[in-house]
Amino acid sequence: MEDELKQKLFRNTKSGWENTTEEQRKDIEEVSKKYMDFLNKAKIEREFITNAKKLADENGYKDIMELETLKPGDKIYFVNRGKSMYLAIIGENSIENGMHIIGSHVDSPRLDLKPNPLYEDGGLAYFKTHYYGGIKKYQWTTIPLSMHGVIVKTSGEKIEINIGENENDPIFTITDLLPHLADEQMEKKLKNGVNGEDLNLLIGSIPYGDKKQSQRVKLNILNILNQKYGITEEDLTSAEIELVPAFKARTMGLDGSMIAAYGQDDKVCAYTSLHAMMELGNVKNTAVCILSDKEEIGSIGNTGMESHMFDFFISEILNKLGVNRPNLLDKVFCYSRMLSSDVDAGFDPIYASVSDKHNAGFIGNGISLNKYTGSRGKSGASDANAEYVAWVRNVLEKNNIRYQVAELGKVDIGGGGTIAYIIANKGADVIDCGVPVLSMHAPYEVTSKFDVYSAYKTYKAFWQE
Ligand code: MN
Ligand code: MN
Repeated sequence: MEDELKQKLFRNTKSGWENTTEEQRKDIEEVSKKYMDFLNKAKIEREFITNAKKLADENGYKDIMELETLKPGDKIYFVNRGKSMYLAIIGENSIENGMHIIGSHVDSPRLDLKPNPLYEDGGLAYFKTHYYGGIKKYQWTTIPLSMHGVIVKTSGEKIEINIGENENDPIFTITDLLPHLADEQMEKKLKNGVNGEDLNLLIGSIPYGDKKQSQRVKLNILNILNQKYGITEEDLTSAEIELVPAFKARTMGLDGSMIAAYGQDDKVCAYTSLHAMMELGNVKNTAVCILSDKEEIGSIGNTGMESHMFDFFISEILNKLGVNRPNLLDKVFCYSRMLSSDVDAGFDPIYASVSDKHNAGFIGNGISLNKYTGSRGKSGASDANAEYVAWVRNVLEKNNIRYQVAELGKVDIGGGGTIAYIIANKGADVIDCGVPVLSMHAPYEVTSKFDVYSAYKTYKAFWQE
């Protein structure tokens, strides 16, 4: 009796794995496998966009700048400087009724090379770095790192760098002090244990040629770079080279239920939304997929979400549909709905004290909705309206998609931010909606395959609405 009443009245907090059918588990595995394969090709934002464009081209999407006019059913994209991208399917309904937007980011915390990175000390050659985004610096020492990015010469020639992913490539690492000599270091606060200025990458140890010369190890490295890429030390000043963990995305756990990988914040939402969009046919409302850059350092710059590039893309759609007029862009945004698809902090039983158990996102319990982000008094949160939360819940429930509504961390402990507020400021209804992650921003992050699958189902259902 009470059991029945509980079943009817309590919210569902059971694991999503309960009651999954054989067939569903097969689908979960299939989406997870595609996701892991994609991650292994797309560790940095440029690589993600290159592969996303490839996928879009294969699925009949066209560069909007190459089209004169647009009509319902057209599939288009715009690539912004190789680092961010917007995709859209023109809906059957008038765009004046608003769009259905899903927005994630494809940049992740990492170490960037400084403009003058190369030096020699104690017979060893190093690259100096400046970390990007919020990291725990000690986590980035003594792990295998790979080098990704571009070097652009003054001629405009662009050299793509990808070293350390192939089994035959060398990898790189940042050394740390042996415990025997680390008494002083171990007394420091964890955040000061490793200085940002000491995150220097070990890259060589063989001296070049004549013994009378100085800096021969550095010279040897430059000689190797010159022979391989035709560059000099100066050319490194116009490079963007990122160091990321050389680990592969892998299935995790004896039950194979989880995924461990670098950069799941936020490539898990970026990939699942991109994958969902590739499977869409015609849609009622114009479907837009945002893959943004620079979220981890504040969404600024011309590839970040704060930039006017997104408005430009939507204006181009309005122009090419032949419907544009003064202030129409504002109207379209005001009538739009958005899922800000970014990861949530998964409840970690080992660190339970930072979360409110009753309002945390749990690994394996489905897509996590954050009505608001921000911290300490909802500061900085766009806070979705109850009417909109109800609308999103309805879409999820009628499609049988498991979801949880959560917040990130205890009230006074901290919080997070996403691109939600930026689109909310334009007038759209926005809610954060993503996959819960363990060890967020660490070199190896953990997600549940069930949640990855739920994200894909959620994004597809939202666009089909
Ligand atoms: Mn994120
Ligand atoms: Mn993040």
